[in-house]
Amino acid sequence: MATWTIGDLRVTRVEEQLGFASFPPDRYLSGLTRDVLERHRAWLVPNHYSPEHDRFVSSIHSWLIRTPHHTILLDACAGNHKERPGFARFHQLDTPYLARLRAAGVVPEEIDIVLCTHLHSDHVGWNTMLRDGRWVPTFPNAKYLFSRTENEIGDPRRNPAAEADAQRNNAYRDSVLPVIEAGQAVLVDGLHAIENGLLIEPAPGHTPGHIVLKLADRDERALFSGDAIHHPIQVYRPDWNSCFCELPDLARATRRRLLEHCAEDDALLFPIHFGAPHVAAITHHANAFALRFVAGS
Ligand SMILES: [Zn+2]
Repeated sequence: MATWTIGDLRVTRVEEQLGFASFPPDRYLSGLTRDVLERHRAWLVPNHYSPEHDRFVSSIHSWLIRTPHHTILLDACAGNHKERPGFARFHQLDTPYLARLRAAGVVPEEIDIVLCTHLHSDHVGWNTMLRDGRWVPTFPNAKYLFSRTENEIGDPRRNPAAEADAQRNNAYRDSVLPVIEAGQAVLVDGLHAIENGLLIEPAPGHTPGHIVLKLADRDERALFSGDAIHHPIQVYRPDWNSCFCELPDLARATRRRLLEHCAEDDALLFPIHFGAPHVAAITHHANAFALRFVAGS
């Protein structure tokens, strides 16, 4: 299992699924033009784009972050046995995700923080698991950190738009609400330090309450960007949003701001959906960004 080190901290990728996006590239990223894909084809194929399928490669994984003080799971994939009609990649899954977490050296009881960058169904699934017909928190000793804004707009009991959105509605009711009812949720506003060097920041656009985690240790840095960026081609075209971005103008501005942070502060980018090797360093020249993949060990 691939692990990266940031100073003294260890970051391990816990895979749920590595597959293809559900739509062709020009539907997955709005504004995409095929000439740009062609120009970058040499590095896109095969880890990030499959010409045979005409689909982007899309990973769904969590980041397991181990510090001397905390064992943190960042984003919780789609989860098992969740009812997600119309979304084959998320519907009634049965993956060995928890076995992979154990293979990384951690049992669910040892996770002390779960951080969800936002409340879309592919980021909250493993928050809960089915036990005796009920959804219960998978990580019994964890505090689950959610953005307060995200929780407000995601709660179908308070927001008719979330009630009408089958994905948000189901995900909230089976993967967020049981955590709140168990008293394990902590709602965060604005900047929130988990510990020295681990800072949650608002990064709205993909969703109104989307948050990211900045990590720094011994002069090394990382950015856990959630879905502020979906696919590595967006490093070259940060103006292309995914079809899942809810506030398009803000999503573009946030993506550019986060890429600037990575380039200027030398922070490694840890997204949730990039294909192998899943992590990249970003450089910035003449108003354009470029990426160099950084494999774990
Ligand atoms: Zn996602």
